[in-house]
Amino acid sequence: MDWKAAARAPACLAWLGLALLLCAGVLQARPVELPAGTNQLSLTPHLQYRHDSGAADGIADAIGHLRAGRFQPVPGGNATFGFQPGAFWFHAAIINRNADEQRWLLVQEYPLSDRLDVWIRYPDGRMHHQAGGDHLPFGARSVRYRHPNFRLDLPPGEQVELLVRVESESSMQVPLELYTPASFTEVSRDAQFAIGLYYGILLALFFYNLVLWISLRDSSYFWYLFHITAFGLVLFTLNGLGFEYLWPNWPWFADKSVPLSICLALVGMNQFTRNFLELPQRWPAGNLASLTVIGFFVLFGLASFWLPYRIATPVAALAVLVGIAWIVGATIRVVRLGYEPAKLLLLAWGAFLMGTAVFTLLAFGVLPKNFFTEYGVQIGSALEMLLLSIALGYRYASLRNENERIAAEANLMLERKVAQRTNEVRSALLQLEEAHARLHESSRRDGLTGLYNRTWFQKAFDRMLGEGRARGQPVSLLMVDLDHFKAINDRHGHLTGDQCLRWAAGRIAGAAGGDALVARFGGEEFVVALPRTGRKDALALAEGIRRALAAAPCEANGHSLRISASIGVHTIQADADCDVDAAFEVADRAMYEAKAGGRNCVRSPGGAALARPQ
Ligand code: GH3
Ligand code: MG
Ligand code: MG
Repeated sequence: MDWKAAARAPACLAWLGLALLLCAGVLQARPVELPAGTNQLSLTPHLQYRHDSGAADGIADAIGHLRAGRFQPVPGGNATFGFQPGAFWFHAAIINRNADEQRWLLVQEYPLSDRLDVWIRYPDGRMHHQAGGDHLPFGARSVRYRHPNFRLDLPPGEQVELLVRVESESSMQVPLELYTPASFTEVSRDAQFAIGLYYGILLALFFYNLVLWISLRDSSYFWYLFHITAFGLVLFTLNGLGFEYLWPNWPWFADKSVPLSICLALVGMNQFTRNFLELPQRWPAGNLASLTVIGFFVLFGLASFWLPYRIATPVAALAVLVGIAWIVGATIRVVRLGYEPAKLLLLAWGAFLMGTAVFTLLAFGVLPKNFFTEYGVQIGSALEMLLLSIALGYRYASLRNENERIAAEANLMLERKVAQRTNEVRSALLQLEEAHARLHESSRRDGLTGLYNRTWFQKAFDRMLGEGRARGQPVSLLMVDLDHFKAINDRHGHLTGDQCLRWAAGRIAGAAGGDALVARFGGEEFVVALPRTGRKDALALAEGIRRALAAAPCEANGHSLRISASIGVHTIQADADCDVDAAFEVADRAMYEAKAGGRNCVRSPGGAALARPQ
């Protein structure tokens, strides 16, 4: 007979049979006593159980097996059987000796069992059935609490029989506890406080890093947020809080939530690590392996919607071991490559693994039960999240320092280059200026003698005339033409002629004095302009020049050559209306007068010879 039918039809024969059997005390279980003053009892060590692997037995069948002695004590007082097919039946007889407490709460301290059925039978034959587990809506629970729970009336001094059937695709764990309402309040308050503290830390870290992510836009912070959220969700689910607060009306989601949240957490953890360690740059092969692990968890997370829970959860648990081992391995590798911030990451994983190990050792009875062992996973993971957050800060600081160093170096290089370029430009400018000055000078000078050239002289003489006119001072112009110069060229060659021209230029300039403007007018003709000089002084200076040339021979190319000049002098008074060309014309005429007068002499217009040839 089906147990569901039995539960719905209490009047049926099976119920009658059960009542008779119980009345007759056939069950022969040694009753558990709740002593006076007790307000909490762990029922599990007192349980007898039977594995109904086909999940085919109804309550009457179970009682039949119980009568036939086919129930046995739970191994080691621990009702933990791992992933098992079918259903498990548990039985205990209870006598409440605590006269003060009649109302008790039976709590299944494992939140993930799919379906629990609890029967209680009183000595007067009354039977009471309740159902629970995460395949029923959360609202069906006696007390709104993350663990399935059932209200039991235990009249003092009376022996009641308790039968519990558990069927679940998750791990078969049945830690049953009996509490009085007061003790349940105290115990659950402590547990809720610890859980609240844990999620408080997680939330604080979440928001702190959220702000950092928003302001810094560093993707590592995003993956940290992803990791902390997904990991928080894993524990939220395993604690039964996910069912209580997030999906109380979705019993179908209860089975999916565990592998799904585990996959999300591992995706976040791996992606965070990949990002933090900068695997694409530091270790491309490791990056590929990391992407493979991430890909596996993404696919597995999606598949867990269809895979049966009994396959999805153990595979996920195994994959978690591989995933975490990989993360630790990759971190060690990058630490060895010399990346300093990875050390903090390693410390964080260490804290997490330590917490988990402590919790596992507690489960195996190696470590005693206390706050640190019982909440090992929470303490370890909270420490891990904290250290990860610190590691992010450290990494950010070292990145910033590195950037600053690079920027400072770049600045220094830039400054050096700018200084170098400035020097180059400056020296180029100087060279240009010099070249320009040379060009300017050479444009003013005559190439052979080094005296001013005709073009420059005409401009300078024009200015001198203007100044003389402005100041009311006379200006004199001397036209000097060497005598019979062609003959020198003809006799001794042009090179000797050139040397003679240079020699004559030096003599003329030397005799003319500092104020005079001396230029080569063309060929063997020279001009001398004298500012602030009247006719008399000009004639005297012209005579000086003539003498300077005639005084000594010119030594050129091994020849000693006598050179003389005919000089025409023209003085322009300040009030005279005379321009440059007119002045040249007059001086030229005077010079021809000197030629006509026998050469080697000085003439001024209309004036008599001032000097006779020697
Ligand atoms: P005069 O006494 O009548 O002035 O006779 P001259 O030979 O000096 O006059 P002319 O004008 O007949 O000849 C000028 C000569 O000056 C002709 C030319 O060979 C020479 N001469 C002109 N320029 C240069 C020059 O740059 N170098 C040399 N070596 N000779 C030059
Ligand atoms: Mg001439
Ligand atoms: Mg001449």
